[in-house]
Amino acid sequence: MIQMERRADAILTFFVVLAVAAGLSLICAVPDLHDLAVRYEAVSDEERSVWGGSVLALLRDDSQMLELSENDDMLAMHQLRLELPASVEAASLSYASDPMRRTFTITIPGISATYFYDFPMVGRADHIVDLFFDYHEGSGTVVLEMDGIFELSSIADGRYVYLDFPTPRELYDYIVVLDAGHGGRDVGAYKDEIAEKDLDLQIVLKMKEILTQDGENIGVYYTRTDDTNPSLQDRAALANEVGADLFLSVHNNSTASGRMSGIHGTEVMYYVADKTEGSKKFAECVLDHLLDDLGSESKGLVAGDAIYIIRTAQMPVALAEIGFMTNKEELALLSSDEYQQKAAQAMVDAIYETLGIDD
Ligand SMILES: [Zn+2]
Repeated sequence: MIQMERRADAILTFFVVLAVAAGLSLICAVPDLHDLAVRYEAVSDEERSVWGGSVLALLRDDSQMLELSENDDMLAMHQLRLELPASVEAASLSYASDPMRRTFTITIPGISATYFYDFPMVGRADHIVDLFFDYHEGSGTVVLEMDGIFELSSIADGRYVYLDFPTPRELYDYIVVLDAGHGGRDVGAYKDEIAEKDLDLQIVLKMKEILTQDGENIGVYYTRTDDTNPSLQDRAALANEVGADLFLSVHNNSTASGRMSGIHGTEVMYYVADKTEGSKKFAECVLDHLLDDLGSESKGLVAGDAIYIIRTAQMPVALAEIGFMTNKEELALLSSDEYQQKAAQAMVDAIYETLGIDD
């Protein structure tokens, strides 16, 4: 709410910003750069306690040029330029990306609250829809909100850091989205004080470790890596927007009654209506690898067309139910690091096989 209002009144203060930017820099406009100016707005302590800081509203208008104090050939080749005070090393900056929220967070230690006044960020606003600046105890945080899923690359050159936002396709040979089921208040199945959301996440995080170590040129995106619960729409949107080659959701099963029973085993859901049979082939591959590595009983391939993320996925999709939490023995296995590790490895192998990667 607060942010929306602030954006609306940003236009009114545009000329003030230009005046500030122009006042700090001199002469020599760099051609073909869209203007990107930022507005620093001090907030009261009361506001700060409510939502955490000051805000920079991104002001964008292709017709306006920000005047720069020098020609910068590097800036002509890159999208954005951050300038650092002499006391701040480029290597001390840290970068985090949150593809679910389409944001990047850049943390700059050792700057002052007026950082953006003193060192305006310049460059092009392409794909950036909003920008915030928070300042806390000697450290500033810049959050860039993008209009899609991008990666962030940075190059340091003296006191400047140049930023670019390549698409995942520009960087990776393959793109995979992994989805740990449930999360947050949605615990999924729950048995003997064990929540399915935790098992699902533990297995996906083990897959993440394997994929990182293997170092294949695969862009892997996660719907969650902690105890949050993105909506089903957001999960499917991540896979569709990033243009994933494969989309795999990891769950664990329970009988309908939720009572302990003898029913156990592994099943994988797929999209029956997918005429290319890409979903079925992928699901079959996941199931085969899980059965081989876990030695679990096959519950087979199951139609998943009623599941939102399956029917809306625009790429081969599979939803693995690793085992039954309502079976005492299988629940003990599912809770063990060793079994989780096997399941994670099996699914990574299935992904490699489906993508045609020799590992
Ligand atoms: Zn589940």
